[in-house]
Parts: sequence; C-alpha cells; structure tokens
Amino acid sequence: MAILFEAGEAEALMKRELAGEFPDARGRFGPYGGRYVPETLVPALDRLAAGVTRWLRDPDFLAELNAQLSQWVGRPTPLSPAPTLSSRWGAQVWFKREDLAHTGAHKINNAIGQALLAKRLGAKRIVAETGAGQHGVATAAACARLGLPCTVYMGAVDCERQAPNVGRMKLLGATVVPVTGGDQTLRAAIDEALRDWVADPNGTYYLIGSAIGPHPYPYMVRELQSVIGREAREQMIRQAGGLPDAVFACVGGGSNSIGMFHPFIADRDVRLIGVEAGGRGPALGDNSATLTLGRPGVLQGCYSMLLQDENGQIQETHSVSAGLDYPGVAPEHAFLMSAGRVQYDSATDDEALESLAECCETEGILAAIESAHAFCGARKWAAKNPGSRILVCLSGRGDKDMPTLQRTLLKGKL
Ligand SMILES: *Cc1c(COP(=O)(O)O)cnc(C)c1O
Repeated sequence: MAILFEAGEAEALMKRELAGEFPDARGRFGPYGGRYVPETLVPALDRLAAGVTRWLRDPDFLAELNAQLSQWVGRPTPLSPAPTLSSRWGAQVWFKREDLAHTGAHKINNAIGQALLAKRLGAKRIVAETGAGQHGVATAAACARLGLPCTVYMGAVDCERQAPNVGRMKLLGATVVPVTGGDQTLRAAIDEALRDWVADPNGTYYLIGSAIGPHPYPYMVRELQSVIGREAREQMIRQAGGLPDAVFACVGGGSNSIGMFHPFIADRDVRLIGVEAGGRGPALGDNSATLTLGRPGVLQGCYSMLLQDENGQIQETHSVSAGLDYPGVAPEHAFLMSAGRVQYDSATDDEALESLAECCETEGILAAIESAHAFCGARKWAAKNPGSRILVCLSGRGDKDMPTLQRTLLKGKL
C-alpha cells in the first residue's frame, strides 16, 4: 500500500511543496525521490544538479529554449474546445493539444530542453533510452537540430514491435542499439543507457525520457514539461473564462501529467486526476497502474511507487499503450498522492480504446492510446459532476498506434 500522510503532516509537506522546497537538498519530495546509484555516478549527478540550478534560471538559456520551443517545436500548442463531447458528456471539455507539438507528443519539450542543457554542460554526445520509440525519436530530432551525436538504447523486443520508429531515429541521424539483455524492453534499455553514461560521465550526457531516475532528473523533467500546464492555465482563463474544475492527464512515467498538474497545484479548488493503465485488469502483471496498485520501493535510481511482488521483485507490466508500460513512476506523483493533492485512477485497455474511438468520431482527433486513458478518466468524472469545466491533456497523436488499432478497434472492419 501507498504511504498515506496524516492530515497535519500532509498539510506541512504541501506547504513546503508550494514554497518550491521540493525536491529538497537530498533530491526528495517528502520521503520519495533521492539517489540510489553507484558511487561513480554521484559526481556526474552533482554536476548535473548544479547545471540545472544554474541554467534553468539563466535568462540567455531560457531565451534560447523559448526560441526553440516557439520556432521549432510549435509552441504554444492550442487549447481546443471539444463541443460535441461537451454536449454528449454534459460538461465543458477542453483539450490541451500536445499532439500538435513537433514529433507528435509532449516528449519533445523535454528532449530539446535537456539537449540544450547538455551543450551548456560541455557534453560531446547524447545517450538515451526508449521503449516504444517516441522518446528516442524526440531525442534524435533534438540532437540533429543541435548538432549532437546521439545513441539510443532500445530493447530488442521493442525494436521489432516499433520498427517504424527505429527507421525514424536512423533517418534523424541517431545510432540505435538493440538491447538483448534483461527483459529486452524499456527497463533493460534504461540500465544499458546508464551503463554507457557511467563509462564517460563528463563527455556523455544521459537524456532521460520521463520524470523518473535519480535526482535531479525528476525535477528537471518537471520543470521542462511544466510549459504544458503554464500555457494551459493561461489559455483556460483567457478562452474558457476561468480555471477548470478538474484536470486530467495520463500517467506512464509521469512527465506529461506532472508538467500539466504542477502549475495548478496551488489552485486548491482545481481537482487534479492522473489516469494510469489498468490493462487487462488488477492482477499483478496485467497492468501498469503503479500508483493505484503498487507499493513503495527503489527502481532505477529513485524511491517511488513500484509494481513488485511480495518479495520485492519488479513485475512485468502490460498496457495496450506502449508509452504507459513501465513499472515505476515519478517520485513527485507518489508524493502528491500520499499528500492527497492529486487523485489517481485507471482505465483498462478496452476502456481506453473506446475513448479513443469516441474522440475520433466526435472531435476529429486521432489521439495516442496513452492520451485516451486521460479522456476515459474525464468521461467517468463528467458523469458524476455534470456541468463542470474539464481540461484534458492530449499528450500525443495516435498515428503511431495504427498497427495496434488495426489489431483491435479495426479488427474485421478493413
Ligand atoms: C510517452 C508517452 C506518454 C507517457 O509518458 P509520461 O512520461 O507519463 O508522460 C503519454 N502519452 C504519450 C503520447 C507518450 O508518447
């Protein structure tokens, strides 16, 4: 079970979160986060933490980042009203359109930000991990843009399942290394990227794809993705006439959701709801619902919630959406859940696919299956809260999911 803070403790910890004191000097959000890494990595992480603190406040760096975001990524992304869904659901539904960002999802916000930072830190090459290939494509694109050599580690099983993304990365100039060890998927790819980084932590920069890993990664990724929530908050006030009653985002590693939620945390009347992959159901191994079904533990450098068995063995995960298929989650989400500020729910594979179809038919948007989990959470909530104003993070586009959709929604229909 998750840690639940007592009311007084939760209040005190939330005050510190709102004062910007988390992560603290040890890289922790309350009990979560920190650094569980080999000694050899500590100097590199210290250097990175110092760099993050310096550059993310440097006006020149921020000007360069903002220029890339507006001129190359396509920010600000629009806020779209969803009129047909709104009348169907009896609510006012708004979509934050990260699907319209370059390379088709929010991942580029993080990739270009970290690649710029790597340059400032004097790195000569970038390594990254990728599962479904979306983070690998975003990283390869950012590295091409900035003239940095890029190596992407990808599980051998994933290379096969996601062949088009392997091709995209190669076209963008990256070297793709299939990982045949371990589970041959994302977890093994992260281990391999870490190993590469340890070999030359000064010349190489490890560009991680979600708000996970040892400090300062969860903090840095949150800062880079918070552009989503900052824009959306302003757009809601301007276009929708006020703040939303509830905000929904899907949670894999937790980066689009923490980026969407963070700028709303101080708005106590705004409900924040993360939606995880409920997969085939609640049994261990059938889902990726880390926060709703997991327990605290250490994975890949940080203390957070995990899907593990009673002996602490990390569990295989399952989701119809490759981007949500990971047994860990951002430590800040674990904290926000324990403090009661954010609620977490899950949507099953079938529910997500149904929501994806509904969004296509009503709003003319083919969303990523990941993002459809967030719609599903929003639909269930709207049914219980008629008339409310709802903001949904549409984290990415669904073109990449066509092979899965052909096997599921379109089965027998082509
Ligand atoms: C990768 C991905 C996710 C999940 O990652 P988070 O770090 O949880 O945001 C969600 N949606 C899309 C479209 C993705 O590509």
